[in-house]
Amino acid sequence: MKKFFACIITASLMLGVLASCSSDDGVLTVGTNADFPPFEYIGDNGEPDGFDIALIKEIGSRIGREIVIEDMEFSALIAAIGSRIDVAIAAMTVTEERRQTVDFSEPYYEAIQYVIVPVESDISSMADLEGLTIGVQLGTTGDFIAEDIEGAVVIQYVKGLDAVNDLLNGRVDCVIIDRNPALVFVERHDGILRAVEGYLFGFDAEYYAIAMPKGDTDLATQINQALRDIKADGTYDRLVRIYIEES
Ligand code: GLN
Repeated sequence: MKKFFACIITASLMLGVLASCSSDDGVLTVGTNADFPPFEYIGDNGEPDGFDIALIKEIGSRIGREIVIEDMEFSALIAAIGSRIDVAIAAMTVTEERRQTVDFSEPYYEAIQYVIVPVESDISSMADLEGLTIGVQLGTTGDFIAEDIEGAVVIQYVKGLDAVNDLLNGRVDCVIIDRNPALVFVERHDGILRAVEGYLFGFDAEYYAIAMPKGDTDLATQINQALRDIKADGTYDRLVRIYIEES
């Protein structure tokens, strides 16, 4: 009898351990920076919305995790993975430096940096950027590019929108930011600002991916499988149409 109870206790302990290790249920806390349209922004109802938010919710429903969004500064996301948040989706470019700290999912979007200038500006090459005062979003690939430009004074903003506002005020000469947000921002100031294509400056293509805790291969496998399914069954194209092409 004693042996029987001991077995039951051992079995339930084991089940408890298994349940607490299992990663395919419960909440997935996702960090973002809801200030980067059309990928993430605060919607009319006051909740985070956008392409990335819709994508991660779709992934969540396919891997059986409830998505809870944590809106935070972009430059704080990587360090928060594994503590305050489980993963981050924030139009985040895969870089070698970030790979030292986190793992990335398979890429889900191709991007490039654009340069926002006043409409009358004729900035169109790397040489034109030398010595300018350049607004960027802190800790982004646009920031890293600007810091390498000869003689440039780089002003870092927590929000890309604040950099754009300072361009309107004349406090900076241009803003380096990802293509799609650049297009959204210039459209809001039609006739005043325009966006210059990144290839003219020799900028490289960038790839957005979901940042995940280093070494969590279980979670990575689930997220990558869901991403592949979402691309294969047309859901990805539908989200692009809704959030990017019609935005
Ligand atoms: N793609 C850029 C980066 O990863 C900017 C991302 C963002 O500001 N949300 O640095």
